[in-house]
Amino acid sequence: MTHTDADSIGGRAIADIRLDFPAFDVTGGVRAPARLDSAATSQRPRSVLDAERDYLEHHLAPVHRGASAEVGVSTTLFEDARAEVARFVGAGEREVVWAQNATDAINMVALGIADASAGIGGADVAGLALRPGDEIVLTEAEHHANLLPWQRLAARTGAVLRPIPVDERGLWTIDDAVRAISDRTRIVAFAEVSNVTGFIAPVGDMVELAHARGALVVLDACQSVPHRPVDFAAQGVDFAAFSGHKMLGPNGIGVLYGRAELLDALPPARTGGSTITKVTMETAEFLPAPHRFEAGTQPVSQAVGLAAAARYLHGIGMDAIARHEEAFAERVLDGVAAIPGVRVVGPPAGIPRAGLVAVAVEGVHAHDVGQYLDEAGVVVRVGHHCAQPLHRALGLTATTRASAHVYTTADEADRFVDALAGVRRFFGVEQGVSA
Ligand code: PMP
Repeated sequence: MTHTDADSIGGRAIADIRLDFPAFDVTGGVRAPARLDSAATSQRPRSVLDAERDYLEHHLAPVHRGASAEVGVSTTLFEDARAEVARFVGAGEREVVWAQNATDAINMVALGIADASAGIGGADVAGLALRPGDEIVLTEAEHHANLLPWQRLAARTGAVLRPIPVDERGLWTIDDAVRAISDRTRIVAFAEVSNVTGFIAPVGDMVELAHARGALVVLDACQSVPHRPVDFAAQGVDFAAFSGHKMLGPNGIGVLYGRAELLDALPPARTGGSTITKVTMETAEFLPAPHRFEAGTQPVSQAVGLAAAARYLHGIGMDAIARHEEAFAERVLDGVAAIPGVRVVGPPAGIPRAGLVAVAVEGVHAHDVGQYLDEAGVVVRVGHHCAQPLHRALGLTATTRASAHVYTTADEADRFVDALAGVRRFFGVEQGVSA
């Protein structure tokens, strides 16, 4: 493989970057599979694995509990990790709450608002409460993680879900949002980057629109924080969520971002040890954010690993990463355009899209496509990608998605396209049997 522009990023050859990742260690001339499934879970560089291991081998101790020097060191590492991750996304230290993953983080917001709506938290939280007939606006393209918690909140409060519809490509516009958002809107929830279409949402315009109506903005940043520069304070969002395992970091950790004054008001979804200032047999007073949300023993090695992942990504440069992954999508789109019977969902070529491409192959189920590609050494994600309403709007039940990260090469994009070109012939549908 020659090192074209597509094979370097932030001034470093991808081949060199790949040396940082044990997953790409190959021995005996074996060709590594083309791992094009990073939008589901990314690989981890040695620096992340080493940070976790170093913590576990040398500093493992409780945090925020006890008076030993070891507890002090462990607590410092834990809180330094928070500060580092906060800087990475333009947040204050008190504005980063550890969660299990993005799903958990979004649930924390929805459950907290449900509690506020039920009068839990007293007069201080009244501003967050929903009343029957209040509206929660969200797009039809949302991952179930950013849909089901709002369905539950609506069921608990009598609020109503108002979808922003998508078109036949899975896209929506700010005009569609203008039509959906009204004076009854209290929450506007959407993904910055769709995990199926790669569509990049107009976050600034959405924030302006929502705030003009007094609504809160909840951003699903799961597919943006790992791949492009994100600054929640500059964007002006109220809450945001992302996961460690998609940003070269550990499983079992994610982040709930919230503006400090909102987090200080939001009732904690989970209660228990380490969240309080004063407890009686009947009542509890909670700490300010972030600790009011972090009930029980926390994922400390994961936090340390996540900070290392943020450092690694920052070291390469988020702008360069975004450009690299957009180039991957363009290359795939170019290649796929020449394959008959393959429909690309999401923005057409020339319209901004993040580094992922989902396709439907006419006459062949996505699971068969996935298996064929797997046998050809290309690893992709198939299915509805936890976005059933979006797939329904597309008239599809499932798609096949290729996605990139820092370590993805142009050669891997080509391997995806080449393998895809053989699918319909293999399944005997080349003459155009409809799906
Ligand atoms: N939102 C989006 C846009 C996603 O892509 C994902 C993961 N597929 C999630 C939310 C949920 O992430 P997690 O499973 O890590 O909670």
